[in-house]
Amino acid sequence: MESSGGRAEGSGRGPRVLVVGSGIAGLGAAQRLCRHPAFQQLRVLEATARAGGRIRSERGFGGVVELGAHWIHGPSQGNPVFQLAAKYQLLGEKDLSEENQLIETGGHVGLPSVSYASSGVSVSRELVVEMASLFYSLIDQTREFLHTADAPVPSVGEYLKKEIRQHVAGWTEDEETRNLKLAILNSFFNVECCVSGTHSMDLVALAPFGEYTVLPGLDCTFPGGYQGLTNCIMASLPEDVIVFNKPVKTIHWNGSFREALSPGERFPVLVECEDRTCFPAHHVIITVPLGFLKEHLDTFFEPPLPPQKAEAIRKIGFGTSNKIFLEFEEPFWEPDCRHIQVVWEDTSPLEDVTSGLQHVWFKKLIGFLVLPSFASVHVLCGFIAGLESEFMETLSDEEVLLSLTQVLRRVTGNARLPAPRSVLRSCWYSAPFTRGSYSYVAVGSTGDDIDLLAQPLPEEGAKAQLQILFAGEATHRTFYSTTHGALLSGWREADRLIALQDPQAQLPGPWL
Ligand SMILES: Cc1cc2nc3c(=O)[nH]c(=O)nc-3n(C[C@H](O)[C@H](O)[C@H](O)COP(=O)(O)OP(=O)(O)OC[C@H]3O[C@@H](n4cnc5c(N)ncnc54)[C@H](O)[C@@H]3O)c2cc1C
Repeated sequence: MESSGGRAEGSGRGPRVLVVGSGIAGLGAAQRLCRHPAFQQLRVLEATARAGGRIRSERGFGGVVELGAHWIHGPSQGNPVFQLAAKYQLLGEKDLSEENQLIETGGHVGLPSVSYASSGVSVSRELVVEMASLFYSLIDQTREFLHTADAPVPSVGEYLKKEIRQHVAGWTEDEETRNLKLAILNSFFNVECCVSGTHSMDLVALAPFGEYTVLPGLDCTFPGGYQGLTNCIMASLPEDVIVFNKPVKTIHWNGSFREALSPGERFPVLVECEDRTCFPAHHVIITVPLGFLKEHLDTFFEPPLPPQKAEAIRKIGFGTSNKIFLEFEEPFWEPDCRHIQVVWEDTSPLEDVTSGLQHVWFKKLIGFLVLPSFASVHVLCGFIAGLESEFMETLSDEEVLLSLTQVLRRVTGNARLPAPRSVLRSCWYSAPFTRGSYSYVAVGSTGDDIDLLAQPLPEEGAKAQLQILFAGEATHRTFYSTTHGALLSGWREADRLIALQDPQAQLPGPWL
């Protein structure tokens, strides 16, 4: 194996630290460490050619589209992503206003502007409002089971369905209306799958569901793209700190490694990359996505992780949620339309889907957001989660465009609706260094598994402390799946190293 060369080796003072991954967790950790004089020997190893990870803004349709993170969830003073974005002047005036910061959404998605049914008619607003209110009141009720040992059923999905069955028994309308109400509810289940990044709400654990914390503030976007934030963090780092196109293959720990340039020194960790270069280090902060960790668990650590830690990685959920952008020559929607819901009348949350994915994948699509920031072009952004989303990734752009044109013609009742001009989509499941979108607490796991995942190794008492530290969105117990959870986790691990090196340091934590 070749030894690495360049900035970090032998030249600086203090411990040698490697950060694996340059998403917001890795960049956040690096920024914090760089600001401390004890951490002169720092490197970030990134598998791909770009920083930002699941924050990914691309130029498209004459503007910016977000293939990954879309909103700042809960943009208010307690949200470090909001604070940083405000500091870097990346947000609009309205998003910064006190008024916006005080709005409590409860984390619920707003009502659609229009709801189309698969028979080509608009669904009555009254029914949609009634079903939204039922669905979200049931979602709110799940908080009752937080920290209780005796949740009535294992999953959020089963709980919602159990409650819905009771409601259905009291519905007095004709069968057609009752079926339509169930179909609307099914659409809200699909929305919740996108929010949770899961195939089915039956996979999401009920008791810990309420532990996810929603901050106040009306979700906002970055006018110039989310990636402006990670670009700003990156710009604050010394120039050659990040090494791109350096996929890490195996992390050898609990060892005593040497390197030619510093013959007297011993390092407890050796990071081996796919190209066979090796980086000895005292500490490594791992920020790779949980999807990557799940897939490479057997080969990524040598010696293997302690069984409990490996079990936590297997148990915590990690699913897929994707976006499909469609560009139209002319809008078919009203000027004030913000959100189009699609309701498949032959679906119900109380019935399982039986047909093959190729015939029904598009029924998981929740509908479309109208993207506001495009002046001369007209762009819709569709959201789709689960196995259907993963199946969509296997199709060509032409196949996706054709299927969605057929869907739109059918639901609008306009067989001559012009096809979209172009399509652009995310494919997070196929991305080899992500393997999905974000984490959730799956049936069989709890928030304790998240804490276990976040614990550094080796466990307490070992001679060489804090060899491997774990950050990334899946390691934050209450803000998992978000950019702010990821950023806080990076800061948390940087602070852990700073406290080890400099016990007198004034740290801004404890972090939320
Ligand atoms: C479609 C989608 C929509 C989302 N919407 C929102 C939203 O609206 N709001 C929100 O708050 N959050 C959202 N999220 C979640 C948010 O994007 C993530 O929680 C956050 O960006 C994760 O940051 P991270 O640093 O933990 O991981 P990542 O950003 O995934 O960074 C990990 C880095 O590690 C690198 N890596 C992986 N393997 C290796 C290896 N072997 N060697 C070296 N490097 C490696 C990867 O290439 C990547 O750059 C969304 C995510 C997706 C996918």
